[in-house]
Formats: sequence, structure tokens, C-alpha cells
Amino acid sequence: MTEKQPDYDIEITLQTLKYATRQLVAELDLQQLVFHSICTIADFSSSQNLSLLLLNEDGSNATLLGTMVKGNFQEAEQEFSIKNTPFAEVLETKNPAVYYCQRKYDYPIPSFSIFAKSRKCTCLPLIGTKNRIIGFINYEHREDYPVSRNHEEIITVITTLIATAIENAHLFQMATIDGLTGLYVRRYFDIRLQEEITRLRRVESDLALIVFDIDHFKKINDTYGHQQGDIILREIADIIKSAVRKDVDIPCRYGGEELVLILPGTDLEGAVVLGERIRKRCEDHQFKSLSDKEIRATISGGIAAMNSNSITTKDEFFQLADKKLYEAKQSSRNRVRF
Ligand code: GH3
Ligand code: MG
Ligand code: MG
Repeated sequence: MTEKQPDYDIEITLQTLKYATRQLVAELDLQQLVFHSICTIADFSSSQNLSLLLLNEDGSNATLLGTMVKGNFQEAEQEFSIKNTPFAEVLETKNPAVYYCQRKYDYPIPSFSIFAKSRKCTCLPLIGTKNRIIGFINYEHREDYPVSRNHEEIITVITTLIATAIENAHLFQMATIDGLTGLYVRRYFDIRLQEEITRLRRVESDLALIVFDIDHFKKINDTYGHQQGDIILREIADIIKSAVRKDVDIPCRYGGEELVLILPGTDLEGAVVLGERIRKRCEDHQFKSLSDKEIRATISGGIAAMNSNSITTKDEFFQLADKKLYEAKQSSRNRVRF
């Protein structure tokens, strides 16, 4: 029985590794990846207290994105300067190292200080492409935590996997998300709209599309400046994002100040209710002002809808919504037409 033990351990380890690999490679959402990464290291280290930080672009700060305390995961967003900290040391050596845990946090943040908590933590560097460190995972453990060579090797494999998955998610985000508004870019819109239309052929369902356009935006820019215009654009995008179903509806920036919404599984009636709600929220919203003037802006919207029995092409579908938008603009703006 005792002779069988190593095989058994390896089998469990490989199973866990296989599962973790699949989860990490399949995920493109950064926040979900942070969750899977922390859980994976928790599994392999048997620790219940962990933290994950990503280095900022200039390498002077690290942002805490997620923690696990007593086995409970929490999203986070907190900046830590890395100057003269263990992070700077790990950045330099590129090797995992053991430190004390800072006393003031209930999740592990490594400290040089002996006056910190008596418990210790290992700081693992996340090493990505070009051998560059992109962040750190810390896991807390007892002072006398014994680590075997194999264990260390496995953890290194996993952190490499995590770093690659995070870099991948970051690249995907940069390629699909518009920098100013945080909405999906036009290319992503084209691909997703086509996908949703194709899905309608396979599965009996509805699909709606709303095209929004900011009213008299040129005049707003001319009057208050482009910077103020950008703020309005960003805040309208935020209103749209907060009004839609996360991970279902697809809010995009079609171009300039035209924002579009793909609504899978939504019929015309549902889209009109949502479109009207967004229009009203914009009308009622007081935008952040760069001057002492109160800033107001409105939007117009055009809506098209189809279902599995009335499928049109992607271009026809868009043109229909765009035509309705034109009608809304013709009839004094700040309204939704369908
Ligand atoms: P309408 O009510 O008919 O839509 O009038 P409009 O002035 O909004 O329409 P028009 O198409 O003439 O002008 C759109 C303006 O949007 C012109 C352009 O400078 C501005 N715009 C496009 N993209 C951006 C952006 O990213 N930031 C800012 N500040 N302005 C932008
Ligand atoms: Mg326009
Ligand atoms: Mg406009």
C-alpha cells in the first residue's frame, strides 16, 4: 500500500493539472482568469489565503486583482508600490521566494519585516513571454512549510501557464475592446452579429439590434471641446453597459459616436423597452463637466428585430436599424424608432 502511494499522488496531481490547464486555456475574461488562477494555486499549495497582483505597464506599481481568504475568493482593485518591497526583489531574481505576511491585510502581501505576522508566504513570479514578469501570486503557509523539488517544479509549470493565459486575455481585450468607451470594437461587432444570425438558423430564437447616435454631437464638441465630448461618449457607453445583461448582450462602438447593441434572444418589444430606458437615462444624466456649465446630451436610437422565421442578412438587418435611426433624427431627435 505504501509503495503505491507515489503513483496515486502523481495521478491526482496530473488530473488536477489537466483540469486546471483546460480551465485556464479556455478563459479569455481577465477577472475569471484571476479567479481560476488563485483557485489552481490554492489547490496545489493547499493554502486558503492567497493574492494575485499584476504589474502595471511602467513596472513601478502592482495592482491587486483578487484575493482568497479562508478559501473565499474576492475580486479586488488596489495599487501597491513595489519599490523596496519583496516584489522588487522577486522581479530582480525571477525566482519564487518566502517572506513574512504583512500584518495589516488578511490576505498575503509579502514583507521583509520580522515584525509582520508570524506566518509566511511564498511570492511566485508570473513569467510571461520574453521572460517578462507580468505579476505575482502569493500564498500563505506555516513557517516550516516543506516544499519538495517536484512540488516546486509543478508550481513553476502552473505559474507559466497562468502568465500565458493572462497575457492572452490581455491581448484579446486589447484587440476587441475600444480604449475610450470600453465597448467592443467594430470588427468584433461584425463577427458577433454574423454569429448570432447564424445561430438563429439553428435554434428557434429572437434577435434585436439597436443603433444609437449622440444628438448634435458636433455642436457639443465645438461648444465645449473634444475632451468634454469624450467624457460624454464614455458616460453614455457606461449607461449602456449598466443597462444590458452582462455576458449576453453585446454593446459595441460602431464608429465615432455611433453605439450599437446586439441583443440575442430579445424580441422587438423587449428591445424597445430597453432602448427607451437607455435613451431616458441619457436624457436625465448630468455629465461630468470640465467647466462650470451643466452638461446635458441626448441620444437617438433605431431598432430592428428578427426571429428564426424572418432571417435577413447582416447588412440588411443593420440597414433597417439605421433607417429607423434616421427617422428618429428626422423627428426632432432624443427618441427611439422601430
Ligand atoms: P446628429 O444629431 O445628426 O447626429 O448630429 P451630429 O453633430 O451628432 O452628427 P455628425 O455626424 O455631423 O457629427 C458627429 C460628430 O461626432 C463629429 C465628430 O467630431 C464627433 N466624434 C466622433 N467620434 C468622436 C470621439 O471619439 N470623440 C469626440 N469628442 N467626438 C467624436
Ligand atoms: Mg453619427
Ligand atoms: Mg450624432
